[in-house]
Amino acid sequence: MLYVKDLDVQGKKIFLRVDFNVPLDKEQNIKDDTRIKATLPTLNHLLEHGAKVIVASHLGRPKEEFNPEFSTRPVAERLAKLIPQKVLHAPDVVGHEVESKKTQLKESQVLLLENLRFYPGEKGNNLSFAQQLAHDIDYYVNDAFGVCHRSHASIVGIPQYVQKSAAGFLVAKEVEYLSKAILSPKKPYVFILGGAKVSDKIPVIERLLHKTDNILIGGAIAYTFFSAQGFGVGRSLVEEDQKDLALSLLDKAKSKGMNFLLPQDHIAAAAIDPGAKKHIIQEFPIPKDLMALDIGPQTIEKYKDIIKTAKTIFWNGPMGVFEIDQFGKGTEEMAKAVANTEAISIIGGGDSVAAVLKVGVSEKISHISTGGGASLEYIAKETLPGLEALTEK
Ligand code: ADP
Ligand code: MG
Repeated sequence: MLYVKDLDVQGKKIFLRVDFNVPLDKEQNIKDDTRIKATLPTLNHLLEHGAKVIVASHLGRPKEEFNPEFSTRPVAERLAKLIPQKVLHAPDVVGHEVESKKTQLKESQVLLLENLRFYPGEKGNNLSFAQQLAHDIDYYVNDAFGVCHRSHASIVGIPQYVQKSAAGFLVAKEVEYLSKAILSPKKPYVFILGGAKVSDKIPVIERLLHKTDNILIGGAIAYTFFSAQGFGVGRSLVEEDQKDLALSLLDKAKSKGMNFLLPQDHIAAAAIDPGAKKHIIQEFPIPKDLMALDIGPQTIEKYKDIIKTAKTIFWNGPMGVFEIDQFGKGTEEMAKAVANTEAISIIGGGDSVAAVLKVGVSEKISHISTGGGASLEYIAKETLPGLEALTEK
């Protein structure tokens, strides 16, 4: 794989794919510009070396057509405050106007395109759309780690139509940390998996069974596993169509003789509400009118004991509804336990990272990944479509 520092970019037109998918408020003010700042090393490197940089990102979930609510214009304005160079903004992604702006672009100038997801060709990986994006471009640089698990046109399509493709500094750093955790993990290796949707995680859990002897499950995903085994889980979140898969995973874990742990006790309430009365449930069934919203105190102790012994830890997905304090204890205790080990610790996922920041222990985590789905998929499959696209040529 080539890296951005391997390219001679002087005077060249670079298509830089970034993840500027920042949270916006109703007036389209940027609430947090971490993602913009994360890409500055790559952007500054390109500008200092005289490249003409065409920057593109997705932003939010527009309906694949132009919509000013999802415009990248506020991002262009913020970016302009973060770098000394002027930032030009294109009112479209492809087409005549964009092409003429690309042509006029001078060395060490930036042109930020409109939201890539205004076009169905982006998610659909339409090759003629990718070709239009690549028109007149010399080199492609991918610094959008958070979307490297997506086979979108700006991730896997463009590299087919340019002379060279390379990883930016952010992508390189993610791959360096994550591959260290995969290729030579110091054991014991512990996975902590939680979060909301088991269908997001089940495909990777299957692969993780081959990599580790310890999987600690928390969050809503536990209740599909319980329900599949016939336990009454009240109104806890269950994905009915994932139950068969959940059972077969439990069988595989059992036959491997590994620690595949589900919560022993649960914090439950009648509603996801700060005012709801909290119950500690130690036995099934969970009462019909309650839903499990956090792991219970015995589970916390058990998981902490295992985390203490770990040399490598990967964590994705909170243990409960951490956004509400009374259902946040499990997540908080796990975050502290992970922070207190000497283990290599990696945390990925938008909500997981927010939870760790909330607890205030982020500095004691070895690596906080900018991509949740991407980091999980990389750990499980040891590759990502976006990384493969950089090496294929
Ligand atoms: P990440 O963004 O880190 O990948 P997910 O998006 O998978 O994590 O899951 C985070 C969400 O899961 C949070 O909004 C949290 O409130 C929710 N969640 C965790 N546990 C439960 C639970 N027991 N019931 C309902 N929602 C839960
Ligand atoms: Mg999330």
